[in-house]
Amino acid sequence: MFPALLPNFVRADLPFTHGEGVFLWTEDGRKYLDFGAGIATSSIGHAHPHLVDTIARQASQLMHVSNLYRIPQAERLAQRLVDRSFADSVFFCNSGAEANEGMIKMMRKAMASTGRLERTRLICFEGAFHGRTLGTLAAGSNAKYREGFGPVPGGFDHVPLNNMNAVRDAIGPETCGIIVEPIQGDGGVRRADIRFLQDLRAVCDEYGILLGLDEVQTGMGRTGKLFAHEWAGIEPDVMALAKGIGGGFPLGAVLAKGATARHLTPGTHGTTYGGNPLACAAGNAVLDVIGAPGFLDRVVHTAQHLRQGLEAIVAKHPAVFDEVRGYGMLLGLHCLRPQADIQAACSQAGLLTLPASENVLRLTPPLIVTPDQCDQACGMIDSACLAMCQ
Ligand SMILES: *Cc1c(COP(=O)(O)O)cnc(C)c1O
Repeated sequence: MFPALLPNFVRADLPFTHGEGVFLWTEDGRKYLDFGAGIATSSIGHAHPHLVDTIARQASQLMHVSNLYRIPQAERLAQRLVDRSFADSVFFCNSGAEANEGMIKMMRKAMASTGRLERTRLICFEGAFHGRTLGTLAAGSNAKYREGFGPVPGGFDHVPLNNMNAVRDAIGPETCGIIVEPIQGDGGVRRADIRFLQDLRAVCDEYGILLGLDEVQTGMGRTGKLFAHEWAGIEPDVMALAKGIGGGFPLGAVLAKGATARHLTPGTHGTTYGGNPLACAAGNAVLDVIGAPGFLDRVVHTAQHLRQGLEAIVAKHPAVFDEVRGYGMLLGLHCLRPQADIQAACSQAGLLTLPASENVLRLTPPLIVTPDQCDQACGMIDSACLAMCQ
């Protein structure tokens, strides 16, 4: 029999029934420390009381009306994001891929609407992941994800990350802009250098093209700033968000400066669910927590503590790991053994982790994780290494 649930994922046999904070429990009572957080999505942990109450209350009042009507929850969340970012305007959708699609469309439309119709091409990076729609598959660099799904839309030029010469060489009369992840998550927890991000901003200004950031994974506090580009002291023209923004409730967003956003006039782009009252109530509740005074400072502090713990593990197990990658609460351990074996051993020890390309074990705990829980996680990775080396 073919499975009723399409087997397009390789799923661990862990049917979780409930969670609390950084912990998850299975049907049969096994407890796990969750350092995957639903792929960097359960940003304020599982069953956070404020998020749960907000969703329950909003669901009992009104879930969905469509974008044919004013939605106060969306207006409020958009205003709060605008107040805390480079952006003047926000478009809400339901996922990261959709946010990136919206960003690509907005970038191209901005060029077309200002008489630069030939400027349609986007420069993207080797190792990039932007989602699974046809457009975002074309923007991403992983050929494996595109296999059998062609043709994908054209107009994307891929160059190596952190290589300004390659970027400059790729810019031509048809270039619309550049799209980059401040840290490539899926691509192996590879960080775009601060200097590189600054140079990308400068080259976009020089050529009058647009800088688009995919902060689907790095945004909403993941690196200890609300948005990862803040570490570089730059502002993009447009940015895609999803994952942590809804704390587990599906929500995505495109944030943009007015000069770029204003070309998506009524009728040019849309969504049925996007930004509905329930999703935006969830987004507001998450922002209440992440935006509270001191929260991001604690993320920075705890992330440094976690990183030190991981550096110690690399030093202790040089046959298993050789490098800590990433920044903030988006960290990776480069593995010298098959990543999947180490991930399985960690799971055996009670720790959930994520894979990434380049044989990297990715760690993206909920942002509410404590230093003590980071020590517990490091202890479990240590146990996993010892068990594997026996
Ligand atoms: C996860 C991810 C996406 C895709 O998000 P979906 O919600 O799965 O569509 C896009 N870009 C980055 C950087 C991501 O990490």
